[in-house]
Amino acid sequence: MAGFNVTPEALGDCNRRGGFTHTYYNDYEIVADNLFKADHRRVSDRIAAYALYTDPPLGRCGMTDAEIRNSGRHALAVKHPMSRVGRAIEKGETNGFIKISVDAESKQILGAAILGTGGDEVIHVLLDVMYAKAPYTVIERAMHIHPTVAEFLPTVLSRLEPFAQEEVNVLTEKCLAARASIG
Ligand SMILES: Cc1cc2nc3c(=O)[nH]c(=O)nc-3n(C[C@H](O)[C@H](O)[C@H](O)COP(=O)(O)OP(=O)(O)OC[C@H]3O[C@@H](n4cnc5c(N)ncnc54)[C@H](O)[C@@H]3O)c2cc1C
Repeated sequence: MAGFNVTPEALGDCNRRGGFTHTYYNDYEIVADNLFKADHRRVSDRIAAYALYTDPPLGRCGMTDAEIRNSGRHALAVKHPMSRVGRAIEKGETNGFIKISVDAESKQILGAAILGTGGDEVIHVLLDVMYAKAPYTVIERAMHIHPTVAEFLPTVLSRLEPFAQEEVNVLTEKCLAARASIG
């Protein structure tokens, strides 16, 4: 039961380790596997993931930009507009972007956001590679099916650049300036 900060029977939203249907079910799986399969799974191994069913939908997983900056690690990132994704163009749904951050040394994916058509599904391609602790180059070299949003992930990952460490400061300054102007 290690990994829980409360008693073992505290599964679901009440343990404050999620707040989603998928997190409460994952809690159950972890406890059941510990109790009945001697499989020492941990809640702390869980990778944060959620979707927003907006139009276009958002799929999110892993670390946020702020968490990556605060970790002080050397990271790479790419942000690719959906207006340059073939499937999005064909569907006439070009709003949004694909954003992926990776660790420069380990090449593991740190976090991703896909705001765009199919984003809530396509994000699982990245999430599963994160669980596998595999480098992003696995995806970069994979052949994906055409025409899909996922087929563009290898191309997107070939365009990684140094992570913008200063972005938070710029945004913070803008927020502070906006707040000051409001009074
Ligand atoms: C409107 C709405 C939409 C949502 N949509 C999504 C979604 O699209 N995707 C998603 O991932 N999550 C969604 N969620 C969140 C998701 O439903 C919860 O995270 C999930 O149900 C939490 O499961 P749980 O078992 O922790 O709690 P619950 O499902 O709330 O179960 C708790 C149970 O405990 C019972 N209970 C409470 N007190 C006692 C007591 N004293 N004695 C005995 N029994 C008690 C309750 O009756 C209830 O049956 C949504 C939530 C809401 C409210």
